[in-house]
Amino acid sequence: MWKYMSQEQILLVLLGNALLLVRRRLCGWKKIHTRFGLVVGPLRSTCYHKNLRNGSGCFSKRRDISISCSAGVDKDSYVPSNEKPTDSRVIYAVAPAMGHNQESHPESHLRVPSIVNALEKMELTPKFRGSAIMELREFKPASIDDIASVHTRNYVTGLEKAMDRASEQGIIFIEGSGPTYATANTFEDSLIAAGAGISLVDSVVEASKLSQNQPIGFALIRPPGHHAIPKGPMGFCVFGNVAIAARYAQRVHGLKRIFIIDFDVHHGNGTNDAFYEDPDIFFLSTHQDGSYPGTGKIDQIGQGDGEGTTLNLPLPGGSGDIAMRTVFDEVIVPCAQSFKPDIILVSAGYDAHVLDPLASLQFTTGTYYMLASNIQQLAKDLCGGRCVFFLEGGYNLDSLSHSVVDSFRAFLGEPSLALEFDNPAILYEEPLTKVKRAIEKVKHLHTL
Ligand SMILES: [Zn+2]
Repeated sequence: MWKYMSQEQILLVLLGNALLLVRRRLCGWKKIHTRFGLVVGPLRSTCYHKNLRNGSGCFSKRRDISISCSAGVDKDSYVPSNEKPTDSRVIYAVAPAMGHNQESHPESHLRVPSIVNALEKMELTPKFRGSAIMELREFKPASIDDIASVHTRNYVTGLEKAMDRASEQGIIFIEGSGPTYATANTFEDSLIAAGAGISLVDSVVEASKLSQNQPIGFALIRPPGHHAIPKGPMGFCVFGNVAIAARYAQRVHGLKRIFIIDFDVHHGNGTNDAFYEDPDIFFLSTHQDGSYPGTGKIDQIGQGDGEGTTLNLPLPGGSGDIAMRTVFDEVIVPCAQSFKPDIILVSAGYDAHVLDPLASLQFTTGTYYMLASNIQQLAKDLCGGRCVFFLEGGYNLDSLSHSVVDSFRAFLGEPSLALEFDNPAILYEEPLTKVKRAIEKVKHLHTL
């Protein structure tokens, strides 16, 4: 039809289409976030313009429109002034990345909604618990500078530019990333996920100054982050959410020493690499021996100034509740005690559950309850209760949801529902001799 139109008419049609596209995508974004509890604030231009100033592609289209995702934000803090978590026990933020999805992919957009639905069903939301459980509803996406504290700017701008191609093709695969897909929403959704984690760091730090009964933060976010390496995405992960939050805690809150516990069934190679030579960030990962991505051998302990502040403990296939309780008592506790952290961040992956389809450990809901409860106590004992959990893996929607539900109950000091959720009949004997050998070796390597 173009040949029958004047240049001006063509321009108007293109402009109209562009506005329609932007409006559709904005409406989708608003709908998604309203559905899962994220409130899109009054129309204002601050964060996207500030955060995406280097960008092009789909975000640059948005510069002509005004949106905001936060309100009443202090200059140096992401916690909105009207949300002060003084008497909360749990503060969580939801970033479901509904537009980042590939059909039948295990890392799907159903994961976070299934957790949120389970929390509602089990009456573990503010609606049922008042101020004891707080949902952080207003937060900003992470800025490019936040992301670039861990990742190269080339990667960040390259991914943003790739959004145009993803927009045309619907979905793209990023080569050599093991494999990681991207849709037109991936860049935006990943900034929101990292922003949720950062905001929870603000919340727990602020609460630790005001309250004796410090709340735990839980970032119910995706895409996950612990495989993403400084120069690219990897293994379903786009930005290293926990690593970005660690750097943020140091830079903005002056917290020097960060202790990261990663109990996802896979090795958190991205976090490992980001801090391998950093003596102030202790990275402790338990994972299934031989599982993706094959890194995280027991003798990978950091190097240079960071030698000794990386601890990798590969567990033999079949390890379960007994193994992890022993690891907690004999490895995690003494390690954290001697490191003396200012905050504990947790890469909370639920794919070590016996029902998870991607691995072969035998954690149960009860194991995750124990981890949540014990890590909370560790944070109280060592660092003023400052602690944030970040969702990583977990691909069986039932075991994932139940395990997060039971983690919330642990944070509240309520009894576990593991007896209701778990089926001991499907468990088999743990390889405890091999587990003991691995624990002894790691204790020897790290002088525990
Ligand atoms: Zn995993």
